[in-house]
Amino acid sequence: KKSLTIDIQSYNHEIQAGSRLHLAKAITFIESTSSEQQEIGQQILKMLLPYTGNSIRIGITGVPGVGKSTFIEAFGKMLCDLGHKVAVLAIDPSSSLTGGSILGDKTRMEELAKHPNAFIRPSPSAGTLGGVHKKSRETMLLCEAAGYDIILVETVGVGQSETIIRGMVDFFLLLALTGAGDELQGMKKGIMELADAIVVNKADGHNESLAKKTVAEYKQILHFLAPSAPNWTTPALAVSSLHKKGLDLVWETIKSFEGKMTQQHFWQNRRKEQTVNWFNEMIVNRLYDDFFSSIQRKQRMKLLEQQVREEKMTVSQAIEELFSSNSYQ
Ligand code: GDP
Repeated sequence: KKSLTIDIQSYNHEIQAGSRLHLAKAITFIESTSSEQQEIGQQILKMLLPYTGNSIRIGITGVPGVGKSTFIEAFGKMLCDLGHKVAVLAIDPSSSLTGGSILGDKTRMEELAKHPNAFIRPSPSAGTLGGVHKKSRETMLLCEAAGYDIILVETVGVGQSETIIRGMVDFFLLLALTGAGDELQGMKKGIMELADAIVVNKADGHNESLAKKTVAEYKQILHFLAPSAPNWTTPALAVSSLHKKGLDLVWETIKSFEGKMTQQHFWQNRRKEQTVNWFNEMIVNRLYDDFFSSIQRKQRMKLLEQQVREEKMTVSQAIEELFSSNSYQ
């Protein structure tokens, strides 16, 4: 017990001093499936909590191939060169195939990874809930305590992931493709209403004029949609992540959003609301995990399932039975 306490204190110290190794290890504790390791992670986080919050949290989404990693690499590098410390919570795309995370995935964000101001954390999609890692929020807090003042959270646009990520960031950026006539039609209005900016990528070469046209189309549609935040007109911008064009305008947009939202207290209030929502989600998660953790209950469910299948019981009766005090306790 004693050595554990000392260890945690040194983690606290090292993380605040900027040790990537300790930060990476602490995240591993947080993400661990072992309850003992999780507990260590939570203790580290608890001590660091007073040093969190000082960052701009930016969520970046888009379909595979839209250029998320290219954008994050170029944008992140620009911010690092401006003197910011940038943490990237990325998706490890290989993990869904192999079932395990291949860390240090060389082809993604290699340049950014080398920058002394950058920290990249690829998370295995195994622990994800709709495309977002269940522990991303806590990882984000650890990065803040380590002095990262910009957090970029990447997610693949797959249905519910946009809503989840919207609930954990200050600014939500939707990356889109040019010539998206069909995409525009297919894109859910709800997702566009969640975005604080729509960024049309690959605005270069032959694509450039098409990108401008796409931006104009988006602007027209956005005009009819509800704004993502009060007194904010969601902008559509064209960038080339490959040629690093237009990225400064994206940053200006984010800064302008921060200024406006802070002034009307929306920024702070939204964060508070996000934390409360997270608490409520965690209650449901915990109940769910606890409920299904009992082997006895699982056996009981199997039996009841059989009864329902054979129409010996109605679903309501089976539910009643499952939750009745003696089988639920
Ligand atoms: P992700 O799946 O969303 O992470 O997309 P990637 O960043 O891996 O990019 C997919 C492909 O699009 C790669 O071949 C990139 O080189 C290319 N790409 C990304 N951004 C740009 C851009 O701004 N212009 C052009 N021409 N190609 C790009």
